[in-house]
Amino acid sequence: MRKKIVAGNWKMNTNFQEGIELAKSVADKYTDTKDGQEVVVFPPYLHLSAVVEELKGSKVTIGAQNCHTELKGAYTGEISAGMLQSIGMQYCLVGHSERRAYFFEDDHELTQKLKQLLNSSIQPIFCCGESLEDRKEGSYLEVIEQQLELLWAFSETEFSQMVIAYEPVWAIGTGETATAEQAQEIHAFIRTLIREKMGAALAENTSILYGGSCKPSNANELFGKDDVDGGLIGGAALNADDFLAIVKALN
Ligand code: PEP
Repeated sequence: MRKKIVAGNWKMNTNFQEGIELAKSVADKYTDTKDGQEVVVFPPYLHLSAVVEELKGSKVTIGAQNCHTELKGAYTGEISAGMLQSIGMQYCLVGHSERRAYFFEDDHELTQKLKQLLNSSIQPIFCCGESLEDRKEGSYLEVIEQQLELLWAFSETEFSQMVIAYEPVWAIGTGETATAEQAQEIHAFIRTLIREKMGAALAENTSILYGGSCKPSNANELFGKDDVDGGLIGGAALNADDFLAIVKALN
C-alpha cells in the first residue's frame, strides 16, 4: 500500500524563532495520526537542526528543500546530502519549479542531486509540472513525460525510494488550483508511465502528491481522487491549523 503524505514546503519564510514555533505547533496539534500516513515539514536550512529537536517524540517528519550536487568540497554556501543525512533528514525536494526557474537547475543537475540523496539514504520528492503556456498549448503531457524521463535511468530499488509531486507551475502560489479532474488526469498519466518504465508493483506503490494552491477548502476533493496520494503544500503550510486541516483531508 502506498503512503499518503502531506508535505509542507516553507520556502524562504519564517525567521528562526517563528520557524521553531511553527514546527512546535504542527507537532503539538498533529495528534490524529493514522497508519500509512505521513506528515513532513520542509523548513529553511537554518532551522533544520533545531526543528529536528523540536519534532522529537512527535509523528511529524522532516525534510530539506534542496541539496548540492556534490558530497563535499569548495562550494561556498552550499549544503550536501551527506550533511543533511548527518542531522537526520528523511526527505529532500528535487526539481521544484522555483529552483528550475530561478536557479536554472537542469536534468543533469537534478540527476546528480537524486544520486547524492539516494546514496545518503534520504528520500527525494521529485517535482514536475507544466507552465501555463504548456497547458494552453495542450502540450502538458509531453512536458511531464520529458521531465520524468531522467528517473527511468535509476534502478528499481533506487526508484522505490522516490516520491513524485505534480505541481502545475500556473497553480503555485497563484491561488488558482488545478481541478481535481485535472490533477487526476496527470497523476494517472504519471502512474501509467511508471508502470511502463518500472513495472506494475512500483506504479502501485509510488506516492504521487499534488501541489499548487492546495488549501483546506479544496484538499478533500483533490485527495478524493484515486491517484492523488496527498499534497505538497506551500502557502497553507505556514499556518499550523490550515496545514493540519489539509492533513485531515487525507483519506
Ligand atoms: C509549492 O511551491 O510547492 C506550492 C505548492 O506552493 P503553494 O501551495 O503556495 O501554491
